[in-house]
Amino acid sequence: GDRSVDREVDSVCPYCGVGCLISYQVKDDRIVAVQGRDGPANRGRLCVKGRFGFDYVHHRQRLTRPLIRKPGVPKALSGLKPEQWFEVFREASWDEALDLAAGGLKRLRDTKGPKSLAGFGSAKGSNEEAYLFQKLVRTGFGSNNVDHCTRLCHASSVAALLEGVGSGAVSNPVNDVQHAELILVIGANPSSNHPVAATWMKNAAARGTKIVLADPRRTELSRHAWRTLQFKADADVALLNALIHTVIHEGLADQDFVRERTANYEALAAHVADYSPERMAPLCGIPAETIREVARAFATARAAMVLWGMGISQHVHGTDNARCLISLVAVSGQIGKPGSGLHPLRGQNNVQGASDAGLIPMMFPNYQRVDNADAHAWFERFWGTPLDPTPGYTVVEIMHKALAPDDDSHKIRGMYILGENPAMSDPDLNHARAGLAALEHLVVQDLFLTETAWLADVVLPASGWPEKTGTVTNTDRMVQLGRRALPLPGDARLDLWIVQQLARRMGLDWRYEGDDAGVAAVYEEMRQAMHASIAGISWERLQREHSVTYPCLSEDDPGQPIVFIDRVPTADGRIRLVPADIVPADERPDDDYPFVLITGRQLEHWHTGSMTRRADVLDAIEPLPVASLHGIDLQRLGVAPDGLLTVESRRGRVTLHARRDDGTPLGTVFIPFAFAEAAANLLTNDALDPFGKIAEVKYCAVRLSPG
Ligand code: SF4
Repeated sequence: GDRSVDREVDSVCPYCGVGCLISYQVKDDRIVAVQGRDGPANRGRLCVKGRFGFDYVHHRQRLTRPLIRKPGVPKALSGLKPEQWFEVFREASWDEALDLAAGGLKRLRDTKGPKSLAGFGSAKGSNEEAYLFQKLVRTGFGSNNVDHCTRLCHASSVAALLEGVGSGAVSNPVNDVQHAELILVIGANPSSNHPVAATWMKNAAARGTKIVLADPRRTELSRHAWRTLQFKADADVALLNALIHTVIHEGLADQDFVRERTANYEALAAHVADYSPERMAPLCGIPAETIREVARAFATARAAMVLWGMGISQHVHGTDNARCLISLVAVSGQIGKPGSGLHPLRGQNNVQGASDAGLIPMMFPNYQRVDNADAHAWFERFWGTPLDPTPGYTVVEIMHKALAPDDDSHKIRGMYILGENPAMSDPDLNHARAGLAALEHLVVQDLFLTETAWLADVVLPASGWPEKTGTVTNTDRMVQLGRRALPLPGDARLDLWIVQQLARRMGLDWRYEGDDAGVAAVYEEMRQAMHASIAGISWERLQREHSVTYPCLSEDDPGQPIVFIDRVPTADGRIRLVPADIVPADERPDDDYPFVLITGRQLEHWHTGSMTRRADVLDAIEPLPVASLHGIDLQRLGVAPDGLLTVESRRGRVTLHARRDDGTPLGTVFIPFAFAEAAANLLTNDALDPFGKIAEVKYCAVRLSPG
């Protein structure tokens, strides 16, 4: 060990879904450094966020006392600085704050009905927190109005995967790229968003794996790619159908696999007959011969794998995109073996686990549908209380329901938000913020006075990841243990403790005893609820092994990194092929708004910036909101690289710093959504994919002007 520190504590990186294992170096109760551990996902590697993004926990703006809104202060984002919190809030004791928080929710439940309440949990919390939060909403609030940021992330991918292969998680781990002859990376920018995963891809490429990078933006991974398909934004289904067309109509389909393992092949083959590469090429902006070349290489590879990100999930046709990927993989027989399969790259460190734990409105833990009679009866017995049998509202729908007319019996009037920042992350922020401000009662639990917390009636000071013990599940389906390294600052409390305090005040008799607010007891209850996937992963086993992959059904089961080897968990065991038509983006560019806006992330900043913009090194590298454009567009607009640029949509307007990036296609602007002073989501469109209910934050029309 390192003698210059007091202790080293093993945990998991709090940022992305890769799930790198880390060790906190702690001196005088402060983290002074982070080292990469030899974890299955990272083998000692870390990216800049994992290595330097830790000091947010020690930031002077941490909330350390409960806050209560002063009477009469209007709910608006007033431009106050965090230091001016006292103009809006006053400090309170925990008893007073919890009584007020729970009392307001209880009063609405009892007078306006269970459907008047909703909760957003967080993919940045532990599995135990997610499990307990959704249990509070279902058994305490009395409805299924519970969701989290998966709705804005891979909800469409999950909808397609559940339909097609009966499971919402990946078939093969990222690391399997080393066994692939070809990998298709589509709608993802792993060099920025899954950086350690990108290093595995680059290593594989160096050993001969062909990378096909398909994305409207040409990003860093392109330097390692065999082919880069810079298709026109919104032409994704056209491109994918043309690939499937080629595989089928050039006789490259794996006939044995198709016959034994798939359903609906004839309909798919007939459907894609109209989608020849020659017909789709003008739509996609990719030569037909290149499409054919990629399709042939994919279908004939010894093993080929697809990894995808939000570039294709966050569209009104996001579910169709994932359906096409499932079809491509299935007709090519590229699933159920090493180096093959389907890998939706998960964004947040625990978005897989939070979804598994039931933090979604249509499913109980482990994807048991709330409207399935057997599942419903099982959970009523398990939790010992009647449950609502109808699916709840999703993230964007909840904001609409907050603004519903007063006589709407499903109007949302009160919310409990733990660790999410919808006043920055939701599409069409002016609308979302109006929804949050319209709530009669809003309880926010977080580390900082986020944009959402400014609109709250009660703010509860939460625990940072290094201050608690719990499990998170990474993009590879690995359940990993994070350990408490630091004491809580001031009067901040463990999130699990706060959730339980609210639950008791709302009338639930919860007793989770033990260290760290009963985390082990909560985990063991969750394990029973999710026995079909994690029965073999006991709390004791996690203490010993740190990382275990599910499905894992018994203590001696090593876990299954690769699934779907001889069947998929659909009703008939077959992969269901679902044809997809071209559905255009909801808002296309026109004369008034001629540019396409693409939103996303950049390497140094995480989502709404509440953590990384308070991490000194990361903030020093990327301190300002930027908009990336092609050099030719900058020149036409008369904006110098670095000059100010105003971007306006039908819904809002922001001013930021231009950045020249010739990888961004002409007529397109890319803006990361981490910057409150120029929030990209003021511009975005909240049109929804009808299946996954994901918003089209990857595409809307904007106009640009200098200054
Ligand atoms: Fe953390 Fe992801 Fe970076 Fe790994 S790749 S250090 S999990 S942000």
